[in-house]
Order: sequence, then C-alpha cells, then structure tokens
Amino acid sequence: MVTPSEIQSRLERILPGVQKPGRYTGGELNQVVKDWEAISTRVALIFPDLYDLGMSNLGMTILYELINQRADSLAERAYSPWTDMEEALRESQLPLYSLETKHPLAAFDILGFSLPYETLYTNTLNVLDLAGIPIFSAERTEAHPLVIAGGHAAYNPEPMHAFIDAFVIGEGEEVIQEIIDAHQAWKRQGTPRIELLRALARIWGVYVPALYRDFYHPDGTFSHLEKLIEEAPLPVIKRIVARLPPPPTRFIVPYIDTVHNRIPVEIMRGCTRGCRFCHAGMITRPVRERPVDEILAGIEAGLQHTGYEEVGLLSLSSSDYTHILELVKAVSEKFAGRHLNVSLPSLRIESFSVELMDALQDTRRSGFTLAPEAATERMREIINKPVSTEQLLETARAIYARGWSNIKLYFMIGHPSETIEDVQAIADLCRAVLAEGRSVIGKRAQVTAGVSTFIPKPHTPFQWVSCDTMEQIRLKQALLKEKLRGPGLKLNWNAPEETLLEAWLSRGDRRMAEVIYQAWKRGAKFDAWGEHFRFTVWQEAFQAVGLDPAFYTHRERPIDETFPWEHISTTVRKKFLTEDYLWSLQGRTRVDCRERCFACGILPTFAELRRQNPGEVWQCPEVKSKRVQLQELIPVSQVVAGDFSSQ
Ligand code: SF4
Repeated sequence: MVTPSEIQSRLERILPGVQKPGRYTGGELNQVVKDWEAISTRVALIFPDLYDLGMSNLGMTILYELINQRADSLAERAYSPWTDMEEALRESQLPLYSLETKHPLAAFDILGFSLPYETLYTNTLNVLDLAGIPIFSAERTEAHPLVIAGGHAAYNPEPMHAFIDAFVIGEGEEVIQEIIDAHQAWKRQGTPRIELLRALARIWGVYVPALYRDFYHPDGTFSHLEKLIEEAPLPVIKRIVARLPPPPTRFIVPYIDTVHNRIPVEIMRGCTRGCRFCHAGMITRPVRERPVDEILAGIEAGLQHTGYEEVGLLSLSSSDYTHILELVKAVSEKFAGRHLNVSLPSLRIESFSVELMDALQDTRRSGFTLAPEAATERMREIINKPVSTEQLLETARAIYARGWSNIKLYFMIGHPSETIEDVQAIADLCRAVLAEGRSVIGKRAQVTAGVSTFIPKPHTPFQWVSCDTMEQIRLKQALLKEKLRGPGLKLNWNAPEETLLEAWLSRGDRRMAEVIYQAWKRGAKFDAWGEHFRFTVWQEAFQAVGLDPAFYTHRERPIDETFPWEHISTTVRKKFLTEDYLWSLQGRTRVDCRERCFACGILPTFAELRRQNPGEVWQCPEVKSKRVQLQELIPVSQVVAGDFSSQ
C-alpha cells in the first residue's frame, strides 16, 4: 500500500494543476491529527461530494469531534475529488486519502459515509473505487475496512444495500461508539468478517443488509424481507439520543470559501408540524430542544475557536423552539457590537417571525425567506401546512415594513391532486406579495420564487402517491416562466431530470442497486451537479437491468402495498401515515402535535426514554409508567408499550 509520505510528495506535483487545491490539502485550523500508530480504531468520515459542500455538514462535524475525543480512536476526513483531481489521482495511480494524515482510505478500519441525499449514491461508489476497495460488500474480506453509512437517505437503505456493509438508521452520536467497540472486540478475537456483521446487527439502530433476503410478487411489487439469521432484528428501529449532547464547537476552518462559513448550532431536533411531504419532519421525531444557556455557550466557544462572524441557529422549524424569543434576545445582547450575523432559517409564516428577525439587531437585511410550499389554501390543507393567504400577505407587509426588500418564497409543484390552477396561483401569489411590497417600499420591493418539484418520500404520508411526469413538470414550469416575468420578480426552478432521478432512488428497492452500479459504470457521478448530471446514462442503466423507471415514480401505490423500506422503523407507525394520507385526500388537517398528540407511534417505542427525560426537553407528552426498560427496545421483539398520558 502506498505510504502517506509518498502520497504527500506526489500531491505536491499534482495540486498546482487542479482547481482549488485547498480542497485536498487538509491542515486547516482545528483539524485533529493523532498518532496513527498508537490508535486502535481509525475511522475515515467521508462526505461523497465536494469539500466545499461537505465542510458544512453538521453530522460529520459532530462525529469527528466525538470520535476524536476517544483516546483509542481517531477520525479523519475525505471528500469526493472534483473531476480534475480524480483524473490526476487516477493518472498518478494514487488512491483517495484522508486530509489529516494522507493515509489511503483502504488503511482505515472503518469508512463512514454521510448520505444526506440520494444523488450522492454514484459518488459513493466512485469513492470506494478511488480508494481501491471492492464496490460490492460481498467481495470485501477481513483485509478491507468496514463500510458504514448513515444520514437521512439511509432511511431507505435498499438501493445501496449491495455496497454498504452496515447502515446506521437514525442519530449517530451514541451508536458510533458502539460500532467502534464492536469493531475492536472483533479485531481482538480475529474471527471472520461475518462475525463482525453479526455483532453489528445486535446494536440498536444498525441494519446489516447481508443478513436479509428480499422477495417480490409476480407483478414486480415488493413482497417481504426475510432475515437469514435469528438475531437480525426485524424491523430495525431507528436510533435516537434521549437528550441532545452539547454542540460541537471546534469547527474546522477551511482555507477556501465553502458553502457556509459559519458556526451551525442545532437548537432543536425533530418537528411537530406534520407537513405531509416532509421526510425530515417524519423521521427526526421526537422533538428535543437544547437549553438556551447551552446554545449561548456553544456560540461563544465556537466563535473563540474559529473567528467566524456568522452563526446559524438551525432546526426544521425555528419559530417552534419553545424559548425562541428569549434565545434571540439573549444572542442579540450577549454578542452586541461584535457584528455577528445570525441566520434563523425555517420560520413560520406569521408576524412573530418578523419580530424575531428584527430582534437580531445586527442581521443584514438582504432577503427574508418564507416557505408556503403551495399557493392555494386548498393545497396547503392537503399538504398540512395550513396558513391563510391573508396571513401570508400580512406577514409580507410586516417584512417589507421592517426594512427587508426581497422576500424569497419557496413553493413546490406536483403536490398530490394539484391542478393547473394551483400552479397559476403560485404566480398570482408572488405578484400579490410584490404588490404589498410596492405599497410599502415602492419599486425596491422584490420577490424571488424558488419552485422545486415535489418528490414523494418513504416514511411520509405521501409515500403512496405518484410523482409528476417529465411532461407535467415541463408544462407547469413553462406556465410559471411565462407568468413570473417582469420587474421585481425572479424565478428559480429545478431541472425535471434531476427530480426524476431523486424520485427513482428515494423509493427504490434492492433491485435498484444494479441500476446505480450500471449508471456509475457508464460514468454517472456528481448527479447533484447540473453540469455533470447525465440523464441518458440513467435511462441506459434502467434498460440494461430491465427495470421500468416509471414503476418507481409514476405509480400510485394501493393503500395496502408493502414497501421495500418497511423493515426500517422510524417508529412513526404505518397506520398513522395511512390515516394521514387518507385525511389529506379529504383536505383534513392536523394541528401541531405539541397542542395535541396524535399517537404517531414515537411514544410506545421510546416510552422509557421519555420517562427518564421528563419536562420540556422532549415535546411529546410525559410518560408515567415505569414498566418499560430501555433494554427492552433491543431486540425489537421485546418492545412493549408503556402508559403515556395523552395517547
Ligand atoms: S408521539 Fe405525539 S407528540 Fe410525539 S411526535 Fe408523535 S404525535 Fe407528536
């Protein structure tokens, strides 16, 4: 195997010839370099996209800090090289390496891939190939690293089942420690690789695809999954942490400009709003909040360690954080005069959101973002994001009146039962908002409409529905392009081909793995990047495998269809999702489940965790019973329901 010093010396010749060499050098402020020889478990954390994007990934930062806190382990980083660097690496026969010590990825014990979205799948295969590691899990031996993956896309792991040895389903903070422990025990014992996989399968939140087999009906729909060994859990229950651990503060400061040069602080995890299209909102339940003083301490330490001038207070719905006003005022007071730019994304459409942004005194007033997602009240009821048009216009007036000149409005086309009138309404609403702006600040007022296309996601109430076809998307986009022209208006949209790729992959089954492999063999990579995405390659891959892409996207599933991701339990029950889907067809909405618990399934599974963590740290109802023990969550067969106050 090539040594780190050989890699380093050859890099010195390669790097002057590639774009942004700072992506590939490491050595940034706050990187952690440990004594390689003195460490038992070496983990490479890999974000299979460009460094410029991956450096902002909070999940990677959290795991990097936690693993490096262990005396017996180290974590280093790797990202997908851009095409020029890939070419240079291949020409020089250099493997992909870690930024910190320049060790080849094949020298690590564990490779941990972050998979926040599906369009990173071909890049994952490419990274394995560049590392000289067999692409297929079944071809790896004891001499190869263990390949694990986690992130939101892993909640339907099946399309990637052939390439990943073990998936982490859910939150990684605790489970990564148990995976490292299991790996160390396996190394000590010196047993075959299958024993490591068996040990991993016993850890709560770990899914080992090789221990299961898939079956299909004659019409091609999924039938069921069978476990091949007794101890493999079925279903695999997602992992959560009962309380959010203190936020990371030693952020690595890149030498080059990246997507976000800021301190990201997660103020809350989970969401109680219940928007029916929202994958993150369903899979990250329950809501757990971080105390205000912990957030403030995190910001203070983060600023000290990095010198950044921007902080992002992150969550899926920031206005829902219980102490949001107190937090915003405290941030404003504590960091007054330090010219700190504070971003507060995902605010509700109400005047209170404007007050919140206003309270952040130093905030630059460029654009204010609202996400109505649909333009008619009927459609907003279907997707369960009920807000009246009047309330939206009133909020827009308040935003312009407080000094913002540009309102960014996010919509989706392609929601279930959408008509062309609902699409036309997007243009009308944007014009109505602009008119409000003009009445307040005149011609300075602007509206930017970001219109993406709805992709039905697994584990959501819309997992049954059909995705718009290319023709439908083009027709709707053409209408918007025509109607949203003129001074003060700007429209952004996504290429329909990219939407379809994500739609194929997100509700794929195990057969999709061969499609991904064939697409990668034909050159697919950087699928999330317009300039690299090659739709025809994917069409050829489907053809080569003999699968119909429309089967995965343009098919409304019968209500009793079994899905290929059902063995992965987010703990939100299918019964709840089914009811919610049927409610959507009637235009029935649900209130925020902080107001009324709808017994989605979180509490029966995590009753004991809730009981042990009383009060407002969770936003689910309190649990009184002491009958359920945490250990009973694993194995799954022993999960029993506890008593909880309002379900
Ligand atoms: S258990 Fe109740 S309160 Fe908790 S997430 Fe589910 S519906 Fe909401």
